Amino acid sequence: MLEVKDLGVKKGGGYILQNLNFSAGKSELHVVMGPNGSGKSTLARTLAGHPEYNDYEGSIKFRDREISDLKADERLREGLMMGFQHPPRINGVNIKRFLTRVLEKLDGVEGTEKIEERIEIVTKELGFSEDLLARNINAGLSGGERKRLELLQARLLEPEILILDEPDSGVDVDSLELISDQINWLHERGTTIVLITHYGSLLEEIDLEDARVHLFRDGKIVTSGEGDLAREVEEKGFNRIYEECGCN
Ligand code: ADP
Ligand code: MG
Repeated sequence: MLEVKDLGVKKGGGYILQNLNFSAGKSELHVVMGPNGSGKSTLARTLAGHPEYNDYEGSIKFRDREISDLKADERLREGLMMGFQHPPRINGVNIKRFLTRVLEKLDGVEGTEKIEERIEIVTKELGFSEDLLARNINAGLSGGERKRLELLQARLLEPEILILDEPDSGVDVDSLELISDQINWLHERGTTIVLITHYGSLLEEIDLEDARVHLFRDGKIVTSGEGDLAREVEEKGFNRIYEECGCN
């Protein structure tokens, strides 16, 4: 479904990503791990069509189609979603109105009333308060609320593929549980998930039985394995694993 070949991204004169190869099929769960600064967020932004990361080398194909010419919102319409970590600030527009607008734009079939109904149902399921929905986009949302909002958007849009860049960073235990529940729910429903994360409490809550784990180093994936590899990272740290696999 997603196929990345020889991806290269240059910034400030040097390569941040180089010769990166990665592919993900339908309903698969991929966990991407790596030291700070190894290029994980750059990969996520490039896949999502972030305007500052449009100028890449190599190829990114989504459903057999090169997506270099598709902007972020067009990729979203095709079913490739990355959490809007920094939703646009729209004065006077509250979260519910924003979500309604996004859904109206993406899915013209449903009427506004139905969309609002769906938002209310999913909101309740996720334990969001009506009060939060009434808040302005970006107005004083805490880190945890922002991450939960990302998952709420994913639940509403049900994308083909969802890329999550450290959804567990800076969130409390309750949010963590909610986030992992939503990831498991989406995965079970057939969404392909690319989860960038540090090993820790989040991965303990995620079903890694059929997951592929990829380890990043200096802008590329140097080794991949099954769910156990995530546990190995926790035990040994990246450096020892890289030494053992000759990935240095
Ligand atoms: P990670 O998410 O794995 O911590 P990043 O993808 O954020 O890593 O960053 C990888 C490297 O690329 C870092 O050294 C970072 O400073 C650099 N980098 C990322 N974006 C840019 C940019 N727009 N301009 C210059 N350097 C960048
Ligand atoms: Mg990062």
